[in-house]
Amino acid sequence: MKEDLLPCPFCGSPVEIESTYDNEIITCTLCPARMDYEGSHSAAIAMWNTRTTHDRWISTAERLPDKDMACLIVYRRETYKAVWNDYHKCWDDHSGDDYWLDPEVPTHWRPIPKPPESLT
Ligand SMILES: [Zn+2]
Repeated sequence: MKEDLLPCPFCGSPVEIESTYDNEIITCTLCPARMDYEGSHSAAIAMWNTRTTHDRWISTAERLPDKDMACLIVYRRETYKAVWNDYHKCWDDHSGDDYWLDPEVPTHWRPIPKPPESLT
């Protein structure tokens, strides 16, 4: 059976899972990345597949931001800066003070990263 494992978060290569007596071991096929998990096979896969939201696009059908925040959104296949207005549950334009789009009109969003610490 093909396992539904996301690729290695460090190098992007496929990973393999091996079940031992008391562990599930997931290893990258290229780099030294490895996770030993003491628990069920399916829980190990769920743990491996958990990713931070700061380095990927999030589908608006999957979930929306849970607080006001500046984001990048994908709307009509283009990327825009937008502000999630959590009070009104809508996307505002970059100034963040007016209605722009309904929640699920953009297909994807991601938080805008903070500037480098050397600039703050
Ligand atoms: Zn790797």
